Amino acid sequence: MSTITSILLVDDDAAMLRLLARWLELAGYRVRTARDGNEACAAIELECPQIVITDWEMPGMDGHELCRWVRSQSLPHYVYLMLLTVRSGLEDLVRGLESGADDFLKKPIDKDELLARLRSGSRVLELEQRLGVLARCDALTGLTSRRTFFEFLNREWSRSQRYHFPLSCVMVDIDFFKRINDLHGHAVGDEVIRRVGAALAEGCRNSDVVSRYGGEEFCLLLPETSEDNAAIWANRMRQRLADLKFQVGDKEVQITASLGVAQRMDDMASPEQLIDMADQALMVAKRSGRDRVVTYHSLSEAKPKSTSSTSPAVLLQDVPARQVMTTLVAGLHQEDTVDIASRHFLRFRITIAPVVDDDGKLVGVLSEKDVMAAMLQANWWQLRIADVMKTNVVCYEEDTPALSIYEFLCRVTLRAAVIVKNGVPSGLITRGSVLRYFINCLSVRGQLRGGGEEADGVAVTKSSAAEVRRRILQTVRAVNDEALDLRERLAEVEQDSPTPQSVASELVPCLVGGASRIQELANDLLACSRFAGEVAEQAEHAVLLG
Ligand code: GH3
Ligand code: MG
Ligand code: MG
Ligand code: MG
Repeated sequence: MSTITSILLVDDDAAMLRLLARWLELAGYRVRTARDGNEACAAIELECPQIVITDWEMPGMDGHELCRWVRSQSLPHYVYLMLLTVRSGLEDLVRGLESGADDFLKKPIDKDELLARLRSGSRVLELEQRLGVLARCDALTGLTSRRTFFEFLNREWSRSQRYHFPLSCVMVDIDFFKRINDLHGHAVGDEVIRRVGAALAEGCRNSDVVSRYGGEEFCLLLPETSEDNAAIWANRMRQRLADLKFQVGDKEVQITASLGVAQRMDDMASPEQLIDMADQALMVAKRSGRDRVVTYHSLSEAKPKSTSSTSPAVLLQDVPARQVMTTLVAGLHQEDTVDIASRHFLRFRITIAPVVDDDGKLVGVLSEKDVMAAMLQANWWQLRIADVMKTNVVCYEEDTPALSIYEFLCRVTLRAAVIVKNGVPSGLITRGSVLRYFINCLSVRGQLRGGGEEADGVAVTKSSAAEVRRRILQTVRAVNDEALDLRERLAEVEQDSPTPQSVASELVPCLVGGASRIQELANDLLACSRFAGEVAEQAEHAVLLG
């Protein structure tokens, strides 16, 4: 071991204690002593030794109990336990081992044997220490591993909450890293990761936590740092990474990285939410061109730039969320089990659902992904939904402009926003719902077929008007088909179900499935009607001009 090994020696026999302490000190160990189990516990709590050598028979708390106590504590490192005893029966040996002892030494003690056994104990400790380092550190960069990062995160999170320190998180991802691997090979890729890690660690304060979060992704925690200051640091770091030069043969390779920055807010539900926000900022940094720093705060201030007639800002102008959302027909209750949720997803062909409490109020969302993650636990199907759902739900009232929700979904990793009416979920807007809305609008205006056709002005022709009609008729036919289909299936349920109860239990999913598809088609019709008027007007205009 790198430092001098510390030993706590415990014996109620003062003469024995003095003798052993002398032998051990002469052998180079740092020794403290205690006269019984209770004194030993206090000494361990004060400073945890690497090895405890304890007599078995002692008044009060004996050696056996002391071993059990040590093993029940969460100590900063593994403690090697050696029991000294006059007992030598097999039963005693088993009892001692079961209490957590690593080794036995029979009294009277032979000095050479004691020292030899301690050397073997030290080897065990050394191995344990090395394993600990391996588990805590990433092998390639030597930085904190992802698992340990979360321990730090929880600690810093509590500190920041308790003392009202700011806490910021910076997510760093190397740009186009796959190309480095593809062009120069994996070994060069590894070297890049190593040097980026080293540069990040070098540019930090000792109190900062730098972790390798994934392949070419790093996550940093900057305690006592505001988002603004973290962004200043991140920009300096971005420059420093861009200046790094990697020699590959006779060529020099350079890289860039994108960084996302977020600060802990008092209303954040969990430490993971801070990471998620830094991640969202990173995503925007990637999407907006890479080699840049984006702060989470700047996202809420961003305004859409595009104003072409097909831009989301125009398509969604004055459209309330109600008109874009997919109406909810059934929700999940927080006390239901994952088993029920899984069936719910399969029955209704959905991938995400809001979760409500007894009053029907929104308390979370559950997605197929959460269910998959829960499957890693034992008896996952019996877990409560409340224990596996996400509680950081984003919800909007029905009359919120759909454009705000669209912008939100563009920015974040969340897949859906829940739409509520007085706190009770009434619909969902997913990326899919928005996409459906856009496609409807464009298809009604003939823009999907016309290819390069320009929407503004005279280019909107009679063919658009024909397309609107075609689209409306097609949708109305689809509503009709769905209704017929539903009627048939309802009749089947009545016929096949032996009891009134089973009719009831089968009726609901059947009805809900059909109703939600009809609901989507009704949304399509509303979207058509909205643009049909506009197209008709433009077509008329085109005829007049032509
Ligand atoms: P972007 O700018 O969008 O981040 O593009 P990218 O290519 O960096 O991103 P992507 O996540 O698609 O690719 C990351 C690559 O990193 C894929 C994976 O093969 C590689 N990678 C992950 N871990 C290691 C590693 O330990 N060593 C090396 N050499 N490559 C790794
Ligand atoms: Mg004794
Ligand atoms: Mg990358
Ligand atoms: Mg990546």
